[in-house]
Amino acid sequence: MPHASPYPPIDIPNKDLYSFLHDRKDRPFPDNHPAFICANTKCTITIGQARDQSQRFGVGLKSLWEWRKGDVMAIFSTNHIEYAIVCWGVHWAGGVLTTANPSYTVDEFTSQLKDSGTRAICTIPAMYFTVLKAATNAGIPKERIIFLGEKPAEGWPDRGQSWKDIFDPSTTAPWRKTKINAEKDAAFFVYSSGTTGNPKGVMLSHKNIVSNILQVYHADSKGNLTWEKDKILAVLPFFHVYGLTILIHLSFYAGNPVIVMERFDIENFCKVIQEEKPTYTYIAPPIVLLLAKHPSVAKYDLSSMRMLNCGAAPLREEISEAVYARIKIPVKQAYGMSELSPATHMQRWEDWRVTAGSVGKLLPNMLAKYMSEDGTELEAGQTGELWLKGPNVMLGYLNNPTATAASITPDGYYKTGDVGHVDIQGNFYITDRIKELIKYNGFQVAPAELEGILSAHPKVDDCAVLGMFMPELETEVPRAFVVLGNGMQRGKEMEEELLKYMEGKVAKHKWIRGGIRFVEAIPKSQSGKILRNVLKNQILED
Ligand code: AMP
Repeated sequence: MPHASPYPPIDIPNKDLYSFLHDRKDRPFPDNHPAFICANTKCTITIGQARDQSQRFGVGLKSLWEWRKGDVMAIFSTNHIEYAIVCWGVHWAGGVLTTANPSYTVDEFTSQLKDSGTRAICTIPAMYFTVLKAATNAGIPKERIIFLGEKPAEGWPDRGQSWKDIFDPSTTAPWRKTKINAEKDAAFFVYSSGTTGNPKGVMLSHKNIVSNILQVYHADSKGNLTWEKDKILAVLPFFHVYGLTILIHLSFYAGNPVIVMERFDIENFCKVIQEEKPTYTYIAPPIVLLLAKHPSVAKYDLSSMRMLNCGAAPLREEISEAVYARIKIPVKQAYGMSELSPATHMQRWEDWRVTAGSVGKLLPNMLAKYMSEDGTELEAGQTGELWLKGPNVMLGYLNNPTATAASITPDGYYKTGDVGHVDIQGNFYITDRIKELIKYNGFQVAPAELEGILSAHPKVDDCAVLGMFMPELETEVPRAFVVLGNGMQRGKEMEEELLKYMEGKVAKHKWIRGGIRFVEAIPKSQSGKILRNVLKNQILED
């Protein structure tokens, strides 16, 4: 029997995101309530401005750019108060957003642009040259690159246009919001490698995101946060689905102003908490570790913060205890993944210590089951692979029916590739991962992608990349096993050459920080699959 959520079922309206967020009749807060506040400049966008500006941008896209339903806009930017407004403008015009990690190299971004069929790109001046090269590679004209915020200062080679230059100066009357099928039309393509292979476009429908907003709202925000008093600190990146759904969309729906930090650094993180007095935030394990250990933390008054919610990777219990002992802020856990829009489990506020080590209870409207390796359903309490079903399960992988069929069962369960169990109170525990994924600081690193690039080096015959946990950083890092070509000399020099080569090819979070081990052969099954468990044991013995 599948395990059902302990929460009462909730009604999920069949609405597109723009209508769900901006045409609400039951909204308790006024139009001039702050929605997004820049931690740096203190510039603020209110709830009403967010609605009006995104609509004007949507009208501009339709009238000036002839934007059609399904057209894709990529966003390549650090966190910015206008990030959401651009997304909702694109939705108004019937488009889809693909959010990209702004630390990507030109090649990585080019792949995403091509795979997602992107038509235009929104970025910030600091990222422009990477964007321009990737756009050229993908055949996107430079007139289709726009900037968040102000356009670059006079004297720049290409001043281009700000997204606000795409506002239609005429009346909005002849233009209507494009009709969306909330259940079938994609709102976002976020990139994830899933359980195997290279990063793929995860198609999240409007209904997927609306569902996840409401699932988390009912299990977490409601009863714990109020729009009048609670502010959210946004330090996780908006391009990742965790930031996108939870920080941007859920907070906007719940009326909790979002204090937007461009990027994380511990000193600034503490300073912003002291100045802006946010009460709640969503973070990943390496930030929890810094809060437990970093000397700067002691210099600041962090007492406004009522709870920290940690997700994106496993968190050890002793680290959350250390944070509480030091700064008296509880840390609770959540769990999810890109393919589930993303949240599926959250610890309740009152449970953070009682069920320490657990990722919490299943969110409303969801079912879970545990499966053995041979595909049989396990009894409650037994350890196996977690399969999940609910209104937040993605539409599928973009242009990849094979990968979609391999990951979603005909009756709608997504095979997470994570291993664990559930206790009799309905608390879930994640204890292992059978999928190939490595998580560095909460960011995905796909072994297959690194293996492809490393194998292309002329001195490498074969290789495998695995995750290795580094307790001093509270994260996994990638480690490579390499078989060198004939006559090649193993040693430090060769390791450095290969590491440097990789650093030139991939974003920083994918660097092979766990080093390289040179081996005679990569252990493989008869069908040629890498025997990752054999290598995992070697890492443990190392
Ligand atoms: P992403 O799609 O980038 O959100 O990555 C999802 C994956 O991150 C999950 O399938 C898990 O392997 C891992 N993950 C996320 N949250 C947790 C957690 N609280 N504990 C353990 N693993 C987690």
